[in-house]
Formats: sequence, C-alpha cells, structure tokens
Amino acid sequence: MARISICTLGCKVNQYEAEMAAQQARAAGHEIVEFGEPADIQIVHTCSITKAAVRDGRQALRHAQHLNPQSTVIATGCAARTDAEDLLPSPDVTLVEDLAQAVALEAEGIVPIPAPGVAAVISEIEQAGRQRRTRALLKIHDGCYFRCSFCIVPNARPVESSKPLEEALEEARTYVAQGHKEIVLTGVRITGYRPEKYLRRGLVELIKRLGDIDGLLRVRLTSLYPSEVGTELLAAMASTANACPHLHLALQSGDDDVLRRMKRHYTSAKFEEVVLQARELLPDVAITTDVISGFPGETEEAFENTRALMERVAFSRGHCFTYSPRKGTPGAEMPGQVPVEIARERTRELIRLTSSTGRQYRFKYVGTIQKVIVEQQKGSGELSGLTDRYVEVLFSGDAALRGELVDVRITGLTSAGLKGELAGDRVSQS
Ligand code: SF4
Repeated sequence: MARISICTLGCKVNQYEAEMAAQQARAAGHEIVEFGEPADIQIVHTCSITKAAVRDGRQALRHAQHLNPQSTVIATGCAARTDAEDLLPSPDVTLVEDLAQAVALEAEGIVPIPAPGVAAVISEIEQAGRQRRTRALLKIHDGCYFRCSFCIVPNARPVESSKPLEEALEEARTYVAQGHKEIVLTGVRITGYRPEKYLRRGLVELIKRLGDIDGLLRVRLTSLYPSEVGTELLAAMASTANACPHLHLALQSGDDDVLRRMKRHYTSAKFEEVVLQARELLPDVAITTDVISGFPGETEEAFENTRALMERVAFSRGHCFTYSPRKGTPGAEMPGQVPVEIARERTRELIRLTSSTGRQYRFKYVGTIQKVIVEQQKGSGELSGLTDRYVEVLFSGDAALRGELVDVRITGLTSAGLKGELAGDRVSQS
C-alpha cells in the first residue's frame, strides 16, 4: 500500500478526474493523503490554459519535490500533454499524461514506491477538497474539436467523448446516496454531450432524467457554448424542477469581427437572442459569463461593442480576463496584438461593469427568503452557501449545517454576494 497525494490545478474537469483517480487508488488499497503530507507518490494534475497555469504546475511540482524529497513526483494533465518542456522542473519528475493511468501504473508497481519524506499542508488544496465534497461533480464530456483561436485545450484534449447516459444517471444516483444534494454537470464543452442513442439531444435527455432522481435537489450546468444552447435545452431546464435557473454563457467578445477572429461560431446578435429566450423561459435566470479583453485586432470600437453588449445583457456575474497570447494557438501569431496596458484597462472597465450589474441583480433578493445549500464555514466563522442562481450567501449558523439545504432571510449585499440570517429549521426538500 502506498500513500498518494494529488494536487489539482485548473478546471472542474481536472477536479473530477482527481476525485475519480483517488477513488481508483483507494479501491486498489492505497491511502490518499492531502497534498503536502508525507507521501510515497505525489501527483500534480496540471492545467495549460495560460502560461501562468503552466508556471503554477511547475511550481507545484517543485514544491512537491521539496516537501517530500524521497517521493516519486508525477506530472499529469493538460500541461503534461502540451508543455512538457516548460512544465518539468527537473528530470526526476515522471511525466504521465493521463491521471488515471498514473495511478494504474503505480498500482501495477511500474512506478517505484520510495520512502516517505517531510510533512506540510497546503490549505487551498484542503479547501478545494472540502468544496468538492459538498457539490458532486459529474463529468459527462471530454475533449473539444472547436478550435477557438485563443484556446490550447483542443491540443491537450482533441478527441470528444461522451459518458453513456445510463452510466451518468447511475453515477448521479450514487452521489445522491452518498448525501450530495447538488450535482454539477461538467466537461470540456458540455453542450457537445452526445451519448449513444441521444446524439442530437444528449444534454436535454440527461437533464430530464436527472429530474426524476429522488433526493437530488439541484442540477447545475457548467460553461455552455452559446450557439449550442437551443430552445429544447432551455425548455427542458424550465420544466425540470431541480435544474438550476443559472446559465454560464461564455461570451468572450461582443464584437462580431473579434468573434470571427476567435473562431467562435456565433455572432453578438445570436448571443443576445439566446439570452432573450433564456429570460423568457426561465424567470429571473442568472446569466454569468467569461469575456476576454485585448484579443488581437480588438479596436476601441470593438471593445465598445463588447462593453455595450455586456451593459445590455446585465450579467449577474462575469469572469473578465486580459488576453495573454498562448504559445501553440493561432491567436498568439495574429497581427494586431493589443498593448497589455490598454488590454488591462479594458478588463478593469468590464470588471467594474459586471460588478455593478451583479449588484443590481442581487439587490432584488434583499428581503426575500432563499434556499441555500451550505458549502463551508469561512475563516470569519460565518457559513457560506449558494442559491440555485449561483449567488453566495453569508450567514451565522452551526458548522454542522454544512451540506444541508436551509432557508435564509436575505438582509443585504456583500461585495460579491448576499448576507442574511437563518429563517427556520433546516429543510430537506426544495
Ligand atoms: S469551445 Fe473553444 S474555448 Fe471551449 S474548450 Fe473548445 S476550443 Fe476551448
């Protein structure tokens, strides 16, 4: 038996894969310990979305070597596939692209198991672990054959695959039996979910069938590709009681010329059409987004188009990024690179805008009672949880409520969410 730790960087797909690999290792009789604790094998499951993400992976690997010098250190994940040269801090690090394979190799004794080393704890990793256990991630899709010109993901995960529908449902039932009340459907591009027999409407069918699982109070979707969100999907969400009225529609730009250069398969008008339809079918739906400022060729006028669209849509939350050229993507070679200071100022403007539209969105909940699934106890002692519309609520209460669905009377706003007070006993049904 070996002690194995996994440091997970990047997106929910990586988090899910790490959970699965941990289960696989436990099933093989190994012990999973927190990253930084004495371990025989330390795995860093890396991300390659930006240069900074690759750098973080390299640092984590170096950190692992420092913490447990006698251990076997393994790099897995996207950066192991796309950026091995920049990722590996020394030749002593073993590179295995696939995390499940890394654990299997170890189980077969192919990777040697040395003696344990020094102890240390990384609190962020612990916290990520705790959050994962509250909402269960369910990965239904992998890979992407869309080739957005800023994105390295198709280089790391070029082949699309979808989990069979019955398998996804079975996994969901297992999570509910384990006590999870919310499931987050995740994948590289979940709107491309096309399991056998449901090649045209996989996500629609899955949402409907998840709606029949007793005890599953919430089903949340991760990022959606805007032009793949159709009436059928929105109608399925509207008619399925446990589908969260929350859509994360990745805008990226509100300018048609920039969208073309990004190789996104929609126009700004199509994006707004989807938003309009979502608001018709899902009352008070929360619409969140990702947007990139300073993509090559983004003129002042193009940026203004993005800003104006974002003002019209009034997102409840937005992740605003400054474009950073990613080696290996077409965007990195495009003419018209925007000076970084200009790009950063544009990002700051979009952050101010989404923070203002987000506040307006949240304000209407003051004075209402919201159902909140308790996620964690903050350092301040307050509990924090999420509403079905992905708004964080802070309130006082017993840490034992973690994972429970409770009623909270909303009394005001925080910088990014809401605050309130418990409005009665815990509830078990939405
Ligand atoms: S849809 Fe575009 S941004 Fe999303 S994973 Fe595929 S290539 Fe990357």
